[in-house]
Amino acid sequence: MKSFVFEAMASRVVFAENAIEHLPREIEQLGAMRALVLSTPQQEALAIDISRRLGLRSVGVYPHAVMHVPIEVARKARDEAVRLGADCVVAAGGGSTVGLGKAIALESALPILAIPTTYAGSEMTPIYGLTEGGLKKTGRDRRVLPKVVIYDPVLTIDLPAAMSIASGFNAIAHAAEALYAENSNPITTMIAEEGIRALAQGMPKVAKHPRDLEGRSDCLYGAWLCGAVLGTTSMALHHKLCHVLGGTWNLPHAETHTVILPHAVAYNYAAAPEAMRRIERAMKTPNAPSGIFDLMRELNAPLALKEIGMKHDDLDRAASLVMQAPYYNPRPTDRESIFRLLDDAFFGRRP
Ligand code: NAD
Repeated sequence: MKSFVFEAMASRVVFAENAIEHLPREIEQLGAMRALVLSTPQQEALAIDISRRLGLRSVGVYPHAVMHVPIEVARKARDEAVRLGADCVVAAGGGSTVGLGKAIALESALPILAIPTTYAGSEMTPIYGLTEGGLKKTGRDRRVLPKVVIYDPVLTIDLPAAMSIASGFNAIAHAAEALYAENSNPITTMIAEEGIRALAQGMPKVAKHPRDLEGRSDCLYGAWLCGAVLGTTSMALHHKLCHVLGGTWNLPHAETHTVILPHAVAYNYAAAPEAMRRIERAMKTPNAPSGIFDLMRELNAPLALKEIGMKHDDLDRAASLVMQAPYYNPRPTDRESIFRLLDDAFFGRRP
């Protein structure tokens, strides 16, 4: 007998080529009159374009989002939203920009309209992160879940191929862990498998022709689905490892997820057979961990922690930190096995 709780995410999703043209109507339907448009400094031109599209309904552009939402950046953005009398935030960019929007919404309860341009999936989750004194804290709050998400593949064609591929594996990691999550259910399982399928189909196209809209559309669709399950299920060992490595050694977010993924999946292989069959079906591979690794290699993704800034001497401490406050995982964890997993990931051994 099935028994589960399914919590649907409240977001309204508009998905289309040139969906950005729907923005003024979506803002109007939200009842917002004074939108503040957020971006990173690198994507300021996009924010200016969005502000122009909103005309009198925009109060300005705040192009200062940075990775991991440092508390000082969040405070300044919150002050700016108050100073301008904003009644809505438009977050245009990747997880860093959506994260800044969430930091504003957490205090003010302003609605967020998100326009994602990577595959990180933050726009679909009620999870926020803030970094203070070098420590990243995360939490869940329904106030930070965007009310509307506009997915426009056209806005992703400038995301460099290497970043796109790493971001795609970051998304697949959400879905892989959703398949063996403690609180998975038939709906999240269906969504997760479809998300992996769409990304595995789209990423080779993006790697070959980054400006081809068909591959971009597959990947963004997959990213939406993977983000949706990240928002509704609890994550396991893979996300714990990435949290520790990113938080303590400041390794790049999407690349860390990429390198760890085949090893976390291999670790859980025997303990989560149903999840593995679904990954294999979605990726058209006979073996989930080596299939993921081979796709990474084919798409020139980073394969080893040593390539992305980790030192072997730090693996011991990383294993201890993972064991200090472990997440639920289908296979029990112990320090020695986690060290071996990290060692395999450090050298990029094929699982
Ligand atoms: P990012 O948002 O930091 O973007 C990386 C860089 O790529 C930035 O310089 C950005 O301006 C640029 N960029 C983004 N889209 C572009 C495009 N289409 N064209 C050209 N350049 C583009 O990276 P990310 O991987 O999307 O997000 C990582 C952050 O998001 C981390 O801090 C992570 O913890 C957080 N995150 C949070 C959640 C959540 O649910 N709260 C989920 C996933 C990620």
